[in-house]
Amino acid sequence: MMKKEQDELIQAEKIRAEIKELEIKGKKLCKKNGHSKIFYSFWGYIHCARCGEQIGDKLGSIFPEADKMIGVECNDSPCEICDPLIKKLNPFDKKMLELHKSLNKLGYAI
Ligand SMILES: [Zn+2]
Ligand SMILES: [Zn+2]
Repeated sequence: MMKKEQDELIQAEKIRAEIKELEIKGKKLCKKNGHSKIFYSFWGYIHCARCGEQIGDKLGSIFPEADKMIGVECNDSPCEICDPLIKKLNPFDKKMLELHKSLNKLGYAI
């Protein structure tokens, strides 16, 4: 493995660990207020990017609010759907979105 790849892998692991740690607090927030507007997909399943819980299924089309949500994988810049929504996010969700995006940028997913 090249030095650069190794560094990126280490960095990705750090970000993953930070996400997992924040998800503990995120779970409490979601339980209280409902799931966030940020999501990531994993094998066709949609997960809340604040708590990590599965909230939908792309294959079964169980994803009613897709046009009102911010995908962490979205790279359209500026994006018509995401940009106005990002402005409304609370600091916690913004932080989670940033973490997921940096992970994706490294070429890794959660
Ligand atoms: Zn949630
Ligand atoms: Zn977008």
